[in-house]
Amino acid sequence: RLMLGIETSCDETSAAVVADGQSVRSLVTYSQIAIHQAFGGVVPEVASRQHVAVITRTVEQALTEANVQLSQLDGIAVTCGPGLLGALLVGLSAAKGYALVSGLPFFPVHHIAGHVAAAGLEAQWRPPMLCLVVSGGHTELLVVDENFRFQRLGGTVDDAAGEAYDKVARLCGLNYPGGPEIDKLAAQGNPDALDLPRSFLDSEELSFSFSGLKSAVANRLEKARRNHEYLPVEDICASFQQAVLDVLVTKTSQAAKKTGLRRIVVAGGVAANRGLRQAMTQLACRADLEIFFPNPVYCTDNGAMIAAAGSHMMKAGRHGTLDVNAYANLSFAEWQNLTS
Ligand code: ATP
Ligand code: MG
Ligand code: FE
Repeated sequence: RLMLGIETSCDETSAAVVADGQSVRSLVTYSQIAIHQAFGGVVPEVASRQHVAVITRTVEQALTEANVQLSQLDGIAVTCGPGLLGALLVGLSAAKGYALVSGLPFFPVHHIAGHVAAAGLEAQWRPPMLCLVVSGGHTELLVVDENFRFQRLGGTVDDAAGEAYDKVARLCGLNYPGGPEIDKLAAQGNPDALDLPRSFLDSEELSFSFSGLKSAVANRLEKARRNHEYLPVEDICASFQQAVLDVLVTKTSQAAKKTGLRRIVVAGGVAANRGLRQAMTQLACRADLEIFFPNPVYCTDNGAMIAAAGSHMMKAGRHGTLDVNAYANLSFAEWQNLTS
């Protein structure tokens, strides 16, 4: 069963052909990172225009590389939200066009469900599972069931983990996106060099907060500047990352206890982080849990994860119709109501 997946929710234009939600036949991604780097972040209007410029090429190339024609596919999946509205509309319109001319089943995908489905690419997909999603816009604990339905247990009350990485990187004068840069530098620094806050650590609540951590780093840097104190950037990165990891690991462990789930997916762009992968693997050993990480190449936005999500929807008999809209904000409940 071959699924075409299209993703344009933010700053990558991506399309892929995936078999059975698992085997990636092709993946083509045009990243706009270099374009947005000049602005230090994603500019929505620039993103939409760039998607328009390359969307057709991206999809055609994904089909060519998979060596399939539209008529040989079994379905078309596309991100319908959440994300930048103008960016989403580009992929959605293209997908509707392909679905209309081919008559293929159409699957509107929740972007975060796509990040979770990335864990099943070239790996075993074994719901029910507990999911920790850590990306540029989200930090959430979820449960995914056998019908690819999601239940939200909790999430961030302010910034997302990836957002905190990007903001702290900016404070340190590092390039956008900051996650990969901090990841590298943190490995060479002292995680105890700076005393930084860890929100909700002693609370039973499954919530996260990262804006106070970012402010604490900013204040500490300002103090060092005033006192002509030298703080190695490696130490700042290591200390910041340790604070993030402590919270993510503790909350995931609490959620596992609360739900009784023993299989855990860690997904989203920040799941590519080497420190996080290490810390979660240690937790898995300690607490006898089974942990699933997407291959790092499937952690950030890509069409393959959307195709995989579409396959799980198809298996659960959850089809969409072509009157589906793009949604900047989209809860799991709202998404689940879009299909029947
Ligand atoms: P969302 O999925 O919430 O809509 P997004 O699609 O922009 O947001 P992703 O593409 O999933 O986010 O991930 C991008 C984020 O991941 C960025 O904030 C980036 O800094 C972060 N990131 C990428 N690689 C790493 C890494 N190795 N360590 C930490 N963070 C990382
Ligand atoms: Mg991105
Ligand atoms: Fe994403």
